[in-house]
Order: sequence, then C-alpha cells, then structure tokens
Amino acid sequence: MAGELNSTAENAALAPDPGAPQGCGPLRPSGDSPVPLRQSLFESVRAYGAMPRVELARHLGVSPASVTSVTTDLIAAGFLHEIAATPRDGETGRGRPPVALAVRPGAGHVVGVKFSTVGNSAVIHDFAGNPLAEISQGVGALVQSPEAICRQAAQLIDMALEKSGLERSDICAVGVGLPGYIDSDLGIVLWSPLTSDTNVPLCAMIRDHLGIPVVIENDTNILTLAELWFGDGRDVSNFAVITIEHGVGMGLVLNNRLYRGARGLGTELGHTKVQLDGALCRCGQRGCLEAYVADYALVREASTALNWHPDVASMSQVLEKLYDHAKGGNRAARSIFRRAGRYLAVGIGNVVNLFDPELILLSGERLRYDYLYADEVMAELNNVWIQVDRAAPRVEIHAWGDMIWARGAAALALSHATSDMLGAGAPVAAQ
Ligand SMILES: [Zn+2]
Repeated sequence: MAGELNSTAENAALAPDPGAPQGCGPLRPSGDSPVPLRQSLFESVRAYGAMPRVELARHLGVSPASVTSVTTDLIAAGFLHEIAATPRDGETGRGRPPVALAVRPGAGHVVGVKFSTVGNSAVIHDFAGNPLAEISQGVGALVQSPEAICRQAAQLIDMALEKSGLERSDICAVGVGLPGYIDSDLGIVLWSPLTSDTNVPLCAMIRDHLGIPVVIENDTNILTLAELWFGDGRDVSNFAVITIEHGVGMGLVLNNRLYRGARGLGTELGHTKVQLDGALCRCGQRGCLEAYVADYALVREASTALNWHPDVASMSQVLEKLYDHAKGGNRAARSIFRRAGRYLAVGIGNVVNLFDPELILLSGERLRYDYLYADEVMAELNNVWIQVDRAAPRVEIHAWGDMIWARGAAALALSHATSDMLGAGAPVAAQ
C-alpha cells in the first residue's frame, strides 16, 4: 500500500445508501445470534443506529416486556440512552413524543491498529462505532522484533489518544491487524512478514505492555470486518473480500460471520493451485494463484518478457512502468496484465463455485491496474463459475487507503469489548 490516506475514496465507498440503517455492525437476522438477549439487543441498536422498543421486540422476536426489562438495565448501566424518534409518515404530533433507543457513544472506546510492511495506522472509535481520531506513519525496519512491534503499537495508540483527548484508561479494547498466519483465538502470530520470530504470543505481549485487553487478527480478515461493519457487506450474509497486494489474500463471511477456519488460517486463496507444476510461489510451492497475480509475479514476468532486471526495492516503480507501457500499447506489457487478469478470474470463479457468495469485493493497491478487472476478464468469469438460472454474484472493486484496515481492527475490538461487557457471564456494570 502506498501509505497515503485515500479518505475521499473511503468516505465515498463507506457512505451508506440513503435508505440504509445509519448505525454500524452486521445487520444479522433475528434469531441468528447465540448470545444473551442484552447483547443481541445492544448490537441490534448499534447496527440500526436507533430503534424504538416496539421495533426491537419485533426484530428480536421477543416480548415487549422482555425488551423493556433489558433496556432498563442497559440504560441504567450507561450503554443505551433514549433519543427522540423520527415520526413515521402518517403519525401526528399529538400525545407522548416517540422515543427510540440509541447507543451512548461514551459507553466505551476502542482502538484499531493496522500493521503492514509499508506503514502503520491507528483509529479510535466510540462505542456507537463513530471514528474519533486517526493516525498513520511509515515504518523504519521491515522485519522487527516482537518487542519493537509492541512499542510501535503503544506509540501509535498514544498518538491517536492525544489527538482524541482520551487516555489509555478510557480504552476498553485494542484490535490489531497484521499480515501473516494469525491464531486469533489464542492471540498467537504463527508467522508474519513483520518479524522473523514464529509462534509469537503477540496478543498477550501488547496487552501486558498497554494494560488493555487486546485481540489480534490477520489483516485481510480485518478488512473483511470493515466491510461487514461499515461497508457493503453489512446487509449481505455471504460475501468474500479478495485483496491483491504483495500477495493475494481473502476474507470470507458465511452466515453473517467471519470464517476463521480450524487453525486460524481462514482462506488462503493466494496459495490455491491454478497450475500443476506451475510458477514458483514465495511460499515455496508451485502453481499458486498469487504466483501469477501478485506484484512480484508481474515484476518477474516483466523481467523475463521485457528484459528488465529490477531489484526488490523498486518493485512498485517497475509495476508503474509496466502499467504505463501497457497503457501505451506495448503488447508484451499488456499480455502480462491480461494473463494475470485471466488467472484472477479463475481464482474468483473457484471461490464462487466453492462458497456461492452473493458478493465478491476486490480490494487492494493493485486494483489501480484496471487490466486486472477489465471487461474481458469479468466476462471470463462466465466460463469459470457455474451457470444457473439465478443472478450471478456481484463483483465490486474497492481501491481503499490504509485507514479502512484500521477501522476493521476497531470493529474487531468493538465486537470483543461488547462480548466482554454484555456476553454470557459478564456483569452489566455501570459505566
Ligand atoms: Zn503459494
């Protein structure tokens, strides 16, 4: 990623439809939440922005008396408050003014942090999901010790806190996203390009450093959470996010929930095989999708076909040069992108054939290279995915900046903190 904020594109992409709910968080269907009523009620209010009690009862499929009882507790504990509801069409202004419930934004605050090989960022959100302050910075060394990563996390968080006027003691959870294989449940970094150490208990290390609960997650998964909480995935039950950057990543939401797999590996689309005995992948195996689509694959092709010999440090310049050549009509450069696009179509088609999602979101820095999703590439999907008498999955392009990843990490922290405070066994303590 370029490390520059692309706020305009982010804001445009995140702007809700005029008719869509104004809150944040997945719009889960009622009855699909194995959590206590107080948690599912709170999460419904946050997802829809504001909701009258009677609608909450209908949405959750419980009695109005149950809603009244639970909301009384949540208001007393400082999680919810009453606001004036917008009168619906046909309602007169007589009688008691309509009241809706909304999340009290100051009920808690979380921080989302995103680490990458080119830049780090952090964002603070209140408990209603509103972003309050954000910060980003470049990185010094590419590979660091786990202790250095902890110090950087603390530094970033303190900078964001200073900007927001909050203190560490105001933060109830920190979400951290980073590239690599992450066991989110156990808080362990199995492998990451950010450090040469393996099996690092990074979650506990950062928690001990900050004195705040921490949850960690793979970076593509936090981008997927950003789509689920703030983006186009909010009202979609089954969708996939495919990222094309230095590698090819994928996040998958099935039945409104992020799919993490048994070992925390989730979905490694980049290392699914598209060619027997094919091109060498950076994972050491052959024929992986990313060995045909990722930036190093394009640069490798360029060095062979165009006799360019770049060093690794200038990879992005080589890609820009290759793209310029393709735009200028250079046949070899065009065919390199075209071939990568065709392999990408095979990868997307395989995802559709395996999971049948409603929506595929293509995201990442490489999506600036429009050859990867040219009309002929998208048309090729029809030769790859199964054709039935139903609408084909939508494929959308999101070329977002860095901050959306940090917002996904904040969503992870919000989810974690909400479960801690309102989940099974948690006392509904006064705030
Ligand atoms: Zn591979």
